[in-house]
Amino acid sequence: MRAMVLDKPKQHLQLRDVPKAKPGRGQLLVRVSTCAVCRTDLHVVDGELPNPKLPLILGHQIVGRAEEIGEEHSTFEIRNSKFAVGDRVGIPWLGWTDGDCAYCRSGRENLCDNARFTGYTIDGGYAEFTVVDARFCFHLPDRYDDIEVAPLLCAGLIGYRSYRKTGKARRLGMYGFGNAAHLIAQIALYEARELFVFTRPGDKATQQAAKELGAVWAGGSDEMPPEKLDAAIIFASVGPLVPAALRALTKGGVVVCGGIHMTDIPSFPYADLWEERVITSVANLTRRDGEEFFEIAPRVPVRIQTETFSLEQANTALDLFRAGKLSATAVLTIAE
Ligand SMILES: [Zn+2]
Ligand SMILES: [Zn+2]
Repeated sequence: MRAMVLDKPKQHLQLRDVPKAKPGRGQLLVRVSTCAVCRTDLHVVDGELPNPKLPLILGHQIVGRAEEIGEEHSTFEIRNSKFAVGDRVGIPWLGWTDGDCAYCRSGRENLCDNARFTGYTIDGGYAEFTVVDARFCFHLPDRYDDIEVAPLLCAGLIGYRSYRKTGKARRLGMYGFGNAAHLIAQIALYEARELFVFTRPGDKATQQAAKELGAVWAGGSDEMPPEKLDAAIIFASVGPLVPAALRALTKGGVVVCGGIHMTDIPSFPYADLWEERVITSVANLTRRDGEEFFEIAPRVPVRIQTETFSLEQANTALDLFRAGKLSATAVLTIAE
Protein backbone atom coordinates (compact mmCIF):
# COMPACT_ATOMS: atom_id res chain seq x y z
CA MET A 1 0.00 0.00 0.00
CA ARG A 2 1.06 3.61 -0.50
CA ALA A 3 1.91 5.49 2.68
CA MET A 4 3.58 8.77 3.64
CA VAL A 5 6.21 7.75 6.18
CA LEU A 6 8.07 9.84 8.78
CA ASP A 7 11.55 8.33 9.20
CA LYS A 8 12.80 10.97 11.61
CA PRO A 9 11.43 14.24 13.05
CA LYS A 10 12.38 17.42 11.20
CA GLN A 11 12.33 15.64 7.84
CA HIS A 12 9.74 15.55 5.09
CA LEU A 13 7.52 12.48 4.90
CA GLN A 14 8.55 9.91 2.29
CA LEU A 15 6.09 8.30 -0.11
CA ARG A 16 6.65 4.53 0.20
CA ASP A 17 5.11 1.26 -0.76
CA VAL A 18 4.81 -0.63 2.55
CA PRO A 19 3.19 -3.96 3.45
CA LYS A 20 -0.42 -3.82 4.52
CA ALA A 21 -0.74 -4.78 8.22
CA LYS A 22 -2.88 -7.80 9.14
CA PRO A 23 -5.75 -7.20 11.57
CA GLY A 24 -5.47 -9.29 14.72
CA ARG A 25 -8.07 -10.19 17.30
CA GLY A 26 -10.50 -7.31 17.89
CA GLN A 27 -8.95 -5.29 15.08
CA LEU A 28 -10.21 -4.01 11.74
CA LEU A 29 -8.38 -3.45 8.50
CA VAL A 30 -9.74 -0.13 7.25
CA ARG A 31 -9.44 1.23 3.71
CA VAL A 32 -8.73 4.91 4.34
CA SER A 33 -10.95 7.38 2.51
CA THR A 34 -9.87 10.66 4.12
CA CYS A 35 -7.52 11.80 6.87
CA ALA A 36 -7.53 15.33 8.24
CA VAL A 37 -4.29 17.06 9.18
CA CYS A 38 -3.98 18.17 12.81
CA ARG A 39 -1.58 20.58 14.51
CA THR A 40 -0.39 17.59 16.54
CA ASP A 41 0.90 16.06 13.28
CA LEU A 42 3.07 19.16 12.91
CA HIS A 43 4.28 18.87 16.51
CA VAL A 44 5.33 15.25 15.79
CA VAL A 45 7.09 16.14 12.51
CA ASP A 46 8.81 19.10 14.16
CA GLY A 47 10.12 16.94 17.02
CA GLU A 48 8.10 18.74 19.70
CA LEU A 49 6.52 15.55 21.12
CA PRO A 50 8.69 12.88 22.75
CA ASN A 51 9.19 9.29 21.59
CA PRO A 52 7.02 8.83 18.50
CA LYS A 53 7.03 5.37 16.93
CA LEU A 54 9.60 5.51 14.10
CA PRO A 55 9.28 5.08 11.23
CA LEU A 56 5.73 6.37 11.60
CA ILE A 57 2.61 6.83 9.51
CA LEU A 58 0.99 10.03 10.82
CA GLY A 59 -2.68 10.90 10.95
CA HIS A 60 -5.37 10.48 13.60
CA GLN A 61 -8.55 11.92 12.08
CA ILE A 62 -9.29 9.02 9.77
CA VAL A 63 -12.44 8.07 7.90
CA GLY A 64 -12.60 4.78 6.01
CA ARG A 65 -14.50 1.57 5.39
CA ALA A 66 -14.01 -1.70 7.26
CA GLU A 67 -12.36 -3.99 4.73
CA GLU A 68 -11.62 -6.98 6.91
CA ILE A 69 -12.36 -8.04 10.48
CA GLY A 70 -9.44 -9.66 12.32
CA GLU A 71 -9.54 -13.34 11.45
CA GLU A 72 -8.79 -14.46 14.97
CA HIS A 73 -12.32 -13.37 15.83
CA SER A 74 -14.63 -16.15 16.84
CA THR A 75 -17.96 -16.34 15.00
CA PHE A 76 -19.55 -14.97 18.16
CA GLU A 77 -17.31 -11.91 18.10
CA ILE A 78 -17.89 -11.24 14.41
CA ARG A 79 -21.65 -11.37 14.98
CA ASN A 80 -21.35 -8.93 17.89
CA SER A 81 -18.67 -6.67 16.43
CA LYS A 82 -19.45 -2.96 16.49
CA PHE A 83 -18.61 -2.87 12.76
CA ALA A 84 -19.38 -5.08 9.76
CA VAL A 85 -17.32 -5.26 6.58
CA GLY A 86 -18.19 -2.20 4.48
CA ASP A 87 -19.24 0.01 7.41
CA ARG A 88 -17.94 3.55 7.64
CA VAL A 89 -15.45 3.87 10.50
CA GLY A 90 -14.16 7.01 12.26
CA ILE A 91 -10.73 6.59 13.85
CA PRO A 92 -9.56 9.06 16.53
CA TRP A 93 -6.34 9.85 18.41
CA LEU A 94 -6.99 7.43 21.28
CA GLY A 95 -6.12 4.10 19.68
CA TRP A 96 -5.86 1.69 22.61
CA THR A 97 -5.91 1.59 26.41
CA ASP A 98 -5.18 -1.24 28.83
CA GLY A 99 -8.63 -0.97 30.46
CA ASP A 100 -6.98 -1.95 33.70
CA CYS A 101 -5.01 0.93 35.25
CA ALA A 102 -6.41 3.24 37.95
CA TYR A 103 -7.34 5.83 35.30
CA CYS A 104 -9.17 3.39 33.05
CA ARG A 105 -11.04 1.94 36.00
CA SER A 106 -12.23 5.40 37.10
CA GLY A 107 -13.67 6.54 33.75
CA ARG A 108 -10.54 8.45 32.75
CA GLU A 109 -9.15 6.31 29.96
CA ASN A 110 -7.81 9.51 28.35
CA LEU A 111 -5.13 9.43 31.07
CA CYS A 112 -4.34 5.68 30.76
CA ASP A 113 -0.73 4.93 31.71
CA ASN A 114 -0.32 2.61 28.75
CA ALA A 115 -2.47 4.35 26.14
CA ARG A 116 -1.46 4.16 22.49
CA PHE A 117 -2.16 7.02 20.13
CA THR A 118 -3.04 6.83 16.47
CA GLY A 119 -0.47 8.44 14.20
CA TYR A 120 1.97 8.88 17.10
CA THR A 121 2.72 5.65 18.96
CA ILE A 122 0.84 3.45 16.45
CA ASP A 123 0.56 3.94 12.69
CA GLY A 124 -2.21 6.22 11.46
CA GLY A 125 -4.05 7.30 8.35
CA TYR A 126 -1.61 8.95 5.92
CA ALA A 127 -1.86 5.69 3.98
CA GLU A 128 -4.22 3.59 1.87
CA PHE A 129 -5.01 1.22 4.75
CA THR A 130 -4.72 1.18 8.51
CA VAL A 131 -5.32 -1.40 11.23
CA VAL A 132 -7.26 -0.32 14.30
CA ASP A 133 -8.76 -1.65 17.52
CA ALA A 134 -12.49 -1.62 16.73
CA ARG A 135 -13.45 -0.70 20.31
CA PHE A 136 -11.92 2.76 19.95
CA CYS A 137 -13.56 3.64 16.61
CA PHE A 138 -16.80 5.54 16.05
CA HIS A 139 -19.81 5.32 13.81
CA LEU A 140 -20.13 8.73 12.17
CA PRO A 141 -23.26 10.84 11.59
CA ASP A 142 -24.74 10.34 8.11
CA ARG A 143 -25.21 14.03 7.48
CA TYR A 144 -21.45 14.49 6.98
CA ASP A 145 -19.45 13.17 4.03
CA ASP A 146 -15.99 11.64 4.46
CA ILE A 147 -14.18 14.94 3.85
CA GLU A 148 -16.17 17.16 6.19
CA VAL A 149 -16.39 14.65 9.04
CA ALA A 150 -12.63 13.94 9.22
CA PRO A 151 -11.65 17.16 11.10
CA LEU A 152 -14.30 16.44 13.72
CA LEU A 153 -12.32 13.40 14.85
CA CYS A 154 -9.70 15.46 16.69
CA ALA A 155 -10.34 19.20 16.48
CA GLY A 156 -13.95 18.35 17.28
CA LEU A 157 -13.49 15.71 19.96
CA ILE A 158 -10.65 17.22 21.94
CA GLY A 159 -12.11 20.70 21.48
CA TYR A 160 -15.36 19.35 22.88
CA ARG A 161 -13.58 17.93 25.92
CA SER A 162 -12.00 21.38 26.51
CA TYR A 163 -15.41 23.00 26.17
CA ARG A 164 -17.03 20.60 28.66
CA LYS A 165 -14.33 21.53 31.18
CA THR A 166 -15.73 25.08 31.18
CA GLY A 167 -18.88 23.77 32.91
CA LYS A 168 -21.82 26.11 32.71
CA ALA A 169 -19.74 29.23 31.93
CA ARG A 170 -22.02 31.86 30.45
CA ARG A 171 -19.28 34.19 29.21
CA LEU A 172 -16.76 32.05 27.39
CA GLY A 173 -13.46 33.29 25.96
CA MET A 174 -11.47 31.57 23.22
CA TYR A 175 -7.80 32.41 22.67
CA GLY A 176 -6.93 31.47 19.10
CA PHE A 177 -9.60 30.93 16.49
CA GLY A 178 -8.33 28.09 14.32
CA ASN A 179 -10.06 24.87 13.37
CA ALA A 180 -10.88 23.51 16.81
CA ALA A 181 -12.05 26.89 18.14
CA HIS A 182 -14.25 27.43 15.11
CA LEU A 183 -15.92 24.05 15.58
CA ILE A 184 -16.46 24.44 19.30
CA ALA A 185 -17.66 28.05 18.96
CA GLN A 186 -20.63 26.71 16.98
CA ILE A 187 -21.60 24.37 19.82
CA ALA A 188 -21.10 27.12 22.44
CA LEU A 189 -23.40 29.46 20.50
CA TYR A 190 -25.95 26.67 20.04
CA GLU A 191 -25.93 26.31 23.82
CA ALA A 192 -26.48 30.08 24.19
CA ARG A 193 -23.06 30.96 25.62
CA GLU A 194 -21.74 34.49 25.10
CA LEU A 195 -18.58 34.13 23.08
CA PHE A 196 -15.48 36.36 23.35
CA VAL A 197 -12.76 35.62 20.79
CA PHE A 198 -9.11 36.66 21.09
CA THR A 199 -6.83 36.58 18.05
CA ARG A 200 -3.29 37.69 17.30
CA PRO A 201 -3.21 41.47 17.89
CA GLY A 202 -4.24 43.21 14.68
CA ASP A 203 -5.77 40.14 12.99
CA LYS A 204 -8.91 42.03 12.00
CA ALA A 205 -9.96 39.43 9.41
CA THR A 206 -10.21 36.63 11.99
CA GLN A 207 -11.92 38.97 14.46
CA GLN A 208 -14.47 39.84 11.79
CA ALA A 209 -15.02 36.13 11.02
CA ALA A 210 -15.64 35.45 14.73
CA LYS A 211 -18.20 38.26 14.93
CA GLU A 212 -19.95 36.99 11.82
CA LEU A 213 -20.23 33.58 13.43
CA GLY A 214 -21.91 35.18 16.45
CA ALA A 215 -19.20 36.24 18.95
CA VAL A 216 -20.38 39.17 21.10
CA TRP A 217 -16.85 40.54 21.12
CA ALA A 218 -13.60 39.86 19.25
CA GLY A 219 -10.25 41.53 19.78
CA GLY A 220 -6.52 41.02 20.17
CA SER A 221 -5.04 38.75 22.83
CA ASP A 222 -3.38 41.87 24.29
CA GLU A 223 -6.81 43.38 25.01
CA MET A 224 -9.17 42.90 27.94
CA PRO A 225 -12.73 41.86 27.15
CA PRO A 226 -15.49 44.38 28.03
CA GLU A 227 -16.75 42.02 30.75
CA LYS A 228 -14.98 39.45 32.94
CA LEU A 229 -15.21 35.89 31.65
CA ASP A 230 -16.47 32.79 33.45
CA ALA A 231 -14.08 30.60 31.49
CA ALA A 232 -11.54 30.71 28.69
CA ILE A 233 -10.17 28.00 26.42
CA ILE A 234 -6.67 28.47 25.03
CA PHE A 235 -6.41 26.86 21.60
CA ALA A 236 -3.13 28.54 20.57
CA SER A 237 0.11 26.86 21.70
CA VAL A 238 1.39 30.11 23.24
CA GLY A 239 2.24 29.98 26.97
CA PRO A 240 1.97 33.75 27.68
CA LEU A 241 -1.75 33.51 26.86
CA VAL A 242 -2.30 31.61 30.13
CA PRO A 243 -1.66 34.56 32.51
CA ALA A 244 -3.40 36.87 30.01
CA ALA A 245 -6.53 34.70 30.08
CA LEU A 246 -6.35 34.40 33.87
CA ARG A 247 -6.51 38.20 34.17
CA ALA A 248 -9.67 38.24 32.06
CA LEU A 249 -11.50 35.85 34.40
CA THR A 250 -14.10 36.51 37.03
CA LYS A 251 -13.72 34.94 40.50
CA GLY A 252 -13.87 31.16 40.36
CA GLY A 253 -13.27 31.17 36.60
CA VAL A 254 -11.34 28.51 34.73
CA VAL A 255 -8.67 28.61 32.03
CA VAL A 256 -8.56 25.41 29.96
CA CYS A 257 -5.42 24.73 27.93
CA GLY A 258 -6.71 22.72 24.97
CA GLY A 259 -3.48 21.72 23.23
CA ILE A 260 -0.97 18.91 23.53
CA HIS A 261 2.01 21.27 23.36
CA MET A 262 2.54 24.83 24.56
CA THR A 263 5.50 27.17 24.91
CA ASP A 264 6.54 27.96 28.51
CA ILE A 265 4.12 29.88 30.68
CA PRO A 266 5.70 33.03 32.17
CA SER A 267 5.38 33.67 35.92
CA PHE A 268 2.56 35.86 37.15
CA PRO A 269 1.37 37.32 40.49
CA TYR A 270 -0.52 34.94 42.77
CA ALA A 271 -3.29 37.55 43.00
CA ASP A 272 -4.23 36.67 39.39
CA LEU A 273 -4.94 33.07 40.41
CA TRP A 274 -6.42 33.73 43.84
CA GLU A 275 -10.20 33.77 44.42
CA GLU A 276 -10.48 30.20 43.24
CA ARG A 277 -9.48 30.69 39.65
CA VAL A 278 -8.32 27.44 38.06
CA ILE A 279 -5.86 26.53 35.32
CA THR A 280 -6.34 23.10 33.81
CA SER A 281 -5.41 21.22 30.67
CA VAL A 282 -7.03 18.63 28.47
CA ALA A 283 -5.32 15.43 27.47
CA ASN A 284 -6.61 13.13 24.73
CA LEU A 285 -10.23 11.98 24.74
CA THR A 286 -12.44 9.27 26.10
CA ARG A 287 -14.82 7.22 23.97
CA ARG A 288 -17.63 8.90 25.85
CA ASP A 289 -16.47 12.35 24.66
CA GLY A 290 -16.69 11.02 21.12
CA GLU A 291 -20.15 9.58 21.53
CA GLU A 292 -21.48 12.83 23.06
CA PHE A 293 -19.82 14.97 20.44
CA PHE A 294 -21.13 12.97 17.48
CA GLU A 295 -24.59 13.17 19.00
CA ILE A 296 -24.58 16.98 19.33
CA ALA A 297 -22.54 17.97 16.23
CA PRO A 298 -25.20 17.11 13.61
CA ARG A 299 -27.91 18.80 15.68
CA VAL A 300 -26.11 22.19 15.78
CA PRO A 301 -25.15 21.47 12.94
CA VAL A 302 -21.42 22.04 13.20
CA ARG A 303 -20.08 23.11 9.80
CA ILE A 304 -16.50 22.67 8.70
CA GLN A 305 -14.43 24.41 6.02
CA THR A 306 -11.95 22.06 4.39
CA GLU A 307 -9.19 22.22 1.83
CA THR A 308 -8.29 18.90 0.18
CA PHE A 309 -4.91 17.47 -0.77
CA SER A 310 -3.88 14.11 -2.21
CA LEU A 311 -1.91 11.65 -0.07
CA GLU A 312 1.25 12.55 -1.99
CA GLN A 313 0.70 16.24 -1.13
CA ALA A 314 0.86 15.62 2.64
CA ASN A 315 4.15 17.53 2.96
CA THR A 316 2.64 20.51 1.15
CA ALA A 317 -0.34 20.49 3.50
CA LEU A 318 1.95 20.33 6.56
CA ASP A 319 4.21 23.09 5.25
CA LEU A 320 1.26 25.38 4.53
CA PHE A 321 -0.16 24.62 7.99
CA ARG A 322 3.16 25.46 9.68
CA ALA A 323 3.35 28.73 7.73
CA GLY A 324 -0.22 29.66 8.70
CA LYS A 325 -1.19 29.63 5.02
CA LEU A 326 -4.10 27.19 5.05
CA SER A 327 -7.46 28.84 4.63
CA ALA A 328 -9.35 25.84 6.10
CA THR A 329 -8.67 22.44 7.67
CA ALA A 330 -6.47 20.34 5.40
CA VAL A 331 -7.89 16.93 4.55
CA LEU A 332 -6.01 14.26 2.62
CA THR A 333 -8.30 12.43 0.19
CA ILE A 334 -6.92 8.95 -0.26
CA ALA A 335 -9.55 6.62 -1.73
CA GLU A 336 -12.52 7.64 -3.85
ZN1 LIG B 1 -5.39 2.31 31.52
ZN1 LIG C 1 -5.26 16.04 16.62
